[in-house]
This record gives sequence, C-alpha cells and structure tokens, in this order.
Amino acid sequence: MTKIIKLKPYFKEVLWGGKKLNTEFGYSIPSDKTGECWAVSARESGESIAYGGEYGGRTLSDLWANERELFGNAEGDVFPLLVKIIDAQSDLSIQVHPDDQYAQEHENGSFGKTECWYILDCPENAKLVIGHNAKSRAELAEMINENRWDELIREVTVKKGDFIQIVPGTVHAIESGILLLEIQQNSDITYRVYDYDRLQDGKKRPLHIDKALDVIACPSKTFMEVFMDASSECDNVLKEIISCNCYSVSRITVDGKMEFEMNKPFMIASVLQGEGDINGEPLKKGDHFIIPSGYGLAQLTGNMEVIITSI
Ligand code: ZN
Repeated sequence: MTKIIKLKPYFKEVLWGGKKLNTEFGYSIPSDKTGECWAVSARESGESIAYGGEYGGRTLSDLWANERELFGNAEGDVFPLLVKIIDAQSDLSIQVHPDDQYAQEHENGSFGKTECWYILDCPENAKLVIGHNAKSRAELAEMINENRWDELIREVTVKKGDFIQIVPGTVHAIESGILLLEIQQNSDITYRVYDYDRLQDGKKRPLHIDKALDVIACPSKTFMEVFMDASSECDNVLKEIISCNCYSVSRITVDGKMEFEMNKPFMIASVLQGEGDINGEPLKKGDHFIIPSGYGLAQLTGNMEVIITSI
C-alpha cells in the first residue's frame, strides 16, 4: 500500500527571526533568531529529509530525481515548489520577484517566483506591504530615486486567516509580529527594493534597484484583487483557496472524519492545527508530508486544519 512521505524541515536563522517556530509549532530550533522553517524544500542550501518508512533518510531532491513515479512522473529538472513557515519578529526588507521569462533571461535560467501567504497568527492591526501607489513607470522611478518610500509603498492591515497571492512584479514585505505559511515556486531570485536604511554589521545590505525597476508592475493590482479570506470552517471538505499556473492551494478543517481522492500528480500536506490521522498514520500540528501518486482515497480523522498544495 502506498504511504505518505513525512519530511523533516530545515531551519534558517536570520536577524529578523524569533522563537515562535518552537513555541507555536514545537519544532526544535537552532536559536531564538529562527525566522524560517523550510518545511518542504528541495533547495541545496536547506533540504527536507524524509523520515520513517521506505524513503527515510533521503532528501526531497533525491526522491524527485530518482523516484519520479512518486510524483506522478511530473516534469522538470527541479522540484517545483517550496513551502515555508515564517516568523517575523521585525520587518523584512521590501522586495519584488521577476517572472519566469525575466529570470530565465537574466538569472541563469532560474524560475521566477509567484508566492502566496496564509496568515497563521499576528497581533491586531498587523501590516504587510503589498503593492505601491505610483500611477506610472515614470512616477515609480521618480519616487524610488527620491527615496519617497512612505508615499510609494502600500501597507495593508491583515488578520489571521487572510490569504494573499503575490504575483511576480508585486512589491511586498512581511512586517513584524506575523507568523505565516508561504507557498512559492522553488526559486530564490529576489530583488531588494528598500531596507529601511538599516545597517547590518555597520553596512547597508545591497539593493537591486535597476532589476526591480525592470520587473515592478505598474500600476499595482488593488489589494482586493489579490486578497482572499480563507478563515471560514471548511466542514470536512477540501476547499480550494487559489489555483494559478504555478500551484493550487486548498484547505481542510477536519472535525471528526472526512475523505478526499488524491487526484493530482502528488500533493503536499501541511498540518497547521490539531491532530488526527490519515489512513491510520498519526498526524499532528507542524507535520508536513507528500501524498504520493497512486495514494487513492485519503481518509482523515481527528480535529485538524490542513493545507494541501499541488501543481
Ligand atoms: Zn517574496
């Protein structure tokens, strides 16, 4: 019988990180400056490693390269997605990502990056930067060159359960206090636009203004165009939040019992609340796993919130 493949995350320490990945999720983290849990990662700099079962001890990129049937023989040189949990104790720099075409041409054939955020926890009136207020490319360049950041960036207030789709070309930043799930294309191409003039080891971190000006979309989409409220109870059904050409994301709130058919090449599952089981295998908050090709009917019991990502 086909089984799920549980993955052990990689943790990244960063200046803006905190300790919620331990206090909220129970992970054993390297320090109280841990900002990122790379929950499902096939990146060389921080690989997920399978544990238990037939594939225990092998990295996700090894499985992708050598056991492609687990992924429904999906195409591609590299595993297409990256799933992280981010704990921001201070503001992150304001950044923008290129699309696939620009990244192919300017970044050695890399993927661009489409990503989305699902807010897991935040204080009241927490804010994100999503988009900007310039009306034309000329005005955008002028505002950046004149350091008119307060006028330029668009801050929005968010709450737990909000879901935001960030397409390439969108200026964005996570602000302090926010804990979120990030699902993205497997790419690290980021152009830093503004870093609040902060110093790190006495120096400002480099900005990438020229490339950023190439890729920033103008005008920005309105917040309502990229925002979804994903907080409602799903009542034991698999409920789609978003589907784009990079990924589909769905949410389940299990209360008792539910089932769904694994009808994609493969699925990534992230347990964000509660505990239970899938076809008898125990699950708890903080577990991330692959539901491989050929799994068939997934029966979930317990009390859990689960996010399902597929290509
Ligand atoms: Zn980003």
